[in-house]
Amino acid sequence: MTPNRYVANHVRGIPKSGIREFFDIVAQEKEVISLGVGEPDFDTPWHIREAAIYSLEKGRTHYTSNLGLPELRSSICRYVQKHFGIAYDPRTEVIITVGVSEAIDLALRALLNPGDEVLYHEPCYVSYSPSVVMAFGVPVAIATRVEDNFTLTAAALKEKITPKSKVLMLNFPCNPTGATQTRAELEKIAKLCIEHDLIVMTDEIYSELSYEGEHVSIASLPGMRERCIFLHGFSKAFAMTGFRIGYACAPPWLTDAMMKIHQYAILCANTMAQDACIEALEHGAKHVESMRREYETRRNYIVRALNDLGLECFQPHGAFYCFPSVGSTGLSSREFSLGVLEKKKVACVPGGAFGASGEGYVRCCYATSLEQIKEAMSRIGDFVSETRKRDLPPVPAAAAKRPQLAKAR
Ligand code: PLP
Repeated sequence: MTPNRYVANHVRGIPKSGIREFFDIVAQEKEVISLGVGEPDFDTPWHIREAAIYSLEKGRTHYTSNLGLPELRSSICRYVQKHFGIAYDPRTEVIITVGVSEAIDLALRALLNPGDEVLYHEPCYVSYSPSVVMAFGVPVAIATRVEDNFTLTAAALKEKITPKSKVLMLNFPCNPTGATQTRAELEKIAKLCIEHDLIVMTDEIYSELSYEGEHVSIASLPGMRERCIFLHGFSKAFAMTGFRIGYACAPPWLTDAMMKIHQYAILCANTMAQDACIEALEHGAKHVESMRREYETRRNYIVRALNDLGLECFQPHGAFYCFPSVGSTGLSSREFSLGVLEKKKVACVPGGAFGASGEGYVRCCYATSLEQIKEAMSRIGDFVSETRKRDLPPVPAAAAKRPQLAKAR
């Protein structure tokens, strides 16, 4: 028997996540400081956990409506209206999903015919391209550059639009770069989307974790609500990754289409987790703000430390990641990540895991204690100076940034 023969062609072709592959290696190493996995180090605030426990105690162990608990949908609509300025109808325009992950999958499967093109900025969250392929679409990456603060420019988007383009996926603040998008640039992008009749999926999962200026959702701009799927969830801002709850807000025709897939594939999201999410939205704001402030302190420290080590690092404006260049070491992102893991027991993710345009960078997640971050920076510092000594004469920073040099070694 040749098992691979039975696996569907489009699935066989999908590479395993570069993050997972890397963390299989990390799991075998002891005493590793992890700047790797993208999840809060904070436990879920106690009052939210208590709400889940109470839900169980009350015997709320049954299915909910396919769309999710009506009270949670109402609470979500109040939250989205208050924080993003977008009004949705809880009866027909919200669907509760198993994390934003499921919402992404539902949206793509509901929208794509085979061969439809999906545009997204890159480096990006690891699931975007495979999710498009699993929905029989064609992923079209638009490389973002540190020179543009890793934002998506309307000009770069315009170049990639073809008659087959159907969907644009946005994620600001961005995983892995921490980039955010200005209102002015979003307005230009919105104009292009209207001109070219694109549907926009906007993944707002890090929106509460913004450190500079206002956060603007493209769905709030004039003419965009009708062509946007607003995706959000509880994993990051509320430190609830294990609860696995997300949501999609969209006009009824789109919610209906997503709902068909959700009701047959999933039925409904976990009931006690949905109860806990009501508590999070209604009473969780002060915890979100105190975690946000702590991430900001860590961001300020880690970005300065990396730059001091000569690992040029763009100042991220949101999320809990920074994305330093490792070009000055002359190593590829994979060589750097494996080297620092093996020799110094610090885990960070090679930038190439987030798409080809992430090559030459590594992602460091600062959702870990400041103490651990300080120790990690000291170890990375040792690794960098040992690498540079070995490789004398040093590679000039500007030249080393060029990917062909990094690859040539
Ligand atoms: N979108 C982005 C940009 C992410 O970084 C992640 C998780 O890291 C997700 C979606 C998935 O989130 P969830 O836990 O809600 O499925």
